[in-house]
Amino acid sequence: MLMENKAENKAVFDAESAKEVVKELRDSFVTGKTKSHRWRVTQLKAMLKMLDENEPQIVAALRDDLSKPEFESSLYEIQMLKNSCRLALKEMNHWMMPEKAKTSLTTFPSSAEIVSEPLGVVLVISAWNYPFLLSLDPVVGAISAGNAIVLKPSEMAPASSSLIAKLVADYLDSSCIKVVEGAVPETSALLEQKWDKILYTGNGRVARIVMAAAAKHLTPVVLELGGKSPVIVDSNINLKVATRRIIAGKWGCNNGQACISPDYIITTKDYATKLVDSFKCELERFYGKDPLESKDLSRIVNSNHFDRLSKLMDEEKVSSKIVHGGQRNEKNLQIAPTIFLDVPVNSLIMKEEIFGPLLPIITVDKVEQSFDLIHSSGGKPLAAYLFTNNKKLKRKFVETVSAGGLVVNDTAVHLAIHSLPFGGVGESGMGSYHGKFSFDAFSHKKAVLYRGFAGDAFLRYPPYTPGKLTLLQALLSGSIVGIIRALLGWFWA
Ligand code: NAD
Repeated sequence: MLMENKAENKAVFDAESAKEVVKELRDSFVTGKTKSHRWRVTQLKAMLKMLDENEPQIVAALRDDLSKPEFESSLYEIQMLKNSCRLALKEMNHWMMPEKAKTSLTTFPSSAEIVSEPLGVVLVISAWNYPFLLSLDPVVGAISAGNAIVLKPSEMAPASSSLIAKLVADYLDSSCIKVVEGAVPETSALLEQKWDKILYTGNGRVARIVMAAAAKHLTPVVLELGGKSPVIVDSNINLKVATRRIIAGKWGCNNGQACISPDYIITTKDYATKLVDSFKCELERFYGKDPLESKDLSRIVNSNHFDRLSKLMDEEKVSSKIVHGGQRNEKNLQIAPTIFLDVPVNSLIMKEEIFGPLLPIITVDKVEQSFDLIHSSGGKPLAAYLFTNNKKLKRKFVETVSAGGLVVNDTAVHLAIHSLPFGGVGESGMGSYHGKFSFDAFSHKKAVLYRGFAGDAFLRYPPYTPGKLTLLQALLSGSIVGIIRALLGWFWA
């Protein structure tokens, strides 16, 4: 029920309203409408049309919310979403097809298949840093799997949130796909309801609230979280290329406000100065002498995050370690790319996820010690990166570092590979999506076995005898010798 709040003359979205929304979607879902291939195709095509016809408005909303450069908005929000829609349109038929499964002698003669069925009515709760991509990419997966959907975009990117709500209502089937805007009260009202799946993107503290609410209804969750993603830099590399790729994944991704942005660097004491010089040179080339004047850097999302990042920079044992950058403009919520050398590992900046334009460099005597440092930090990050030409080091990296995803000799680009699952492990989340993994995340894999009436084995029926037991055990273990022995024993008995 939408109640009028007289003071603000604004509709309040409470638990009753949430219940009504879920009921409406469930009523639509049970008609079987969303299950049809045609409905899924129509919605995905409508989403493509929506993105095609509204690119300037989307770019403008992202500029309002984050001063996000048009280049990044076009590529990392709009183009990536279009790619997801196109891939789903191309592959969905194939994804939807039942998958043949092997059967065994035990049920001979029989055939089996795995049927993907939609879970039902699902909830997507999204974050502010890539408001379009993180809201609509899971929706693409949920549509292609045939679900009805409620999307709750982040209130921290208000222009994007209201544009998403308007566009989804204008272009998609509102009897099956709805956007609910709002903050904690609205999300809490939604979380009280029974969903068939929840995909949440955001921080670990709220993820715990989401998971606790989901547990009440035994609702499965995908949690897309973050963490401190390390970059190990060896010395035998193409330094210029490595530096540029780190910059692209850090400041070129929403000014470091991205879940897979490099959080800190580990390199050797001997190599650190060279690396810092290279950063200075390339950063100036990319963003000019005064990066606060650059149009190619997003601003910090709001004053709370500006203050949080300022606190990390201003900690006494950290502020003296700045070797590049450090400029800030509180009024415009801008912080320049800032590099720190050798901050203490017990400083705040090394304890929490930075999620902004600050990049500490930690030094070790030997590059192999980087692995211990990553392990001693405890958590499993969402991403980990290594720059090296050393085969042994690459192998050790892949074998020993546990993270949502690893990239060797680049940063952040694994996100664009739709054949790789995107998701975290441990503190960085659970479950994954992207490409077919999105379809799977919103599908139930139903096991189906087909039998006829022939070959009815009397063995499984009472009266139970030792002979029947021996033969069934042999059949279940699949041992031909055992079966022959059991049969011989049977006939000789
Ligand atoms: P946020 O503040 O936008 O919150 C995310 C969502 O949680 C929002 O929709 C918000 O309304 C909701 N929410 C907030 N408090 C709530 C509460 N008490 N109860 C219910 N819902 C609540 O985003 P954030 O958490 O600041 O996002 C940053 C974090 O997200 C970082 O840790 C980052 O690494 C992670 N992240 C992960 C991914 C990924 O794909 N793995 C992507 C982006 C961000």
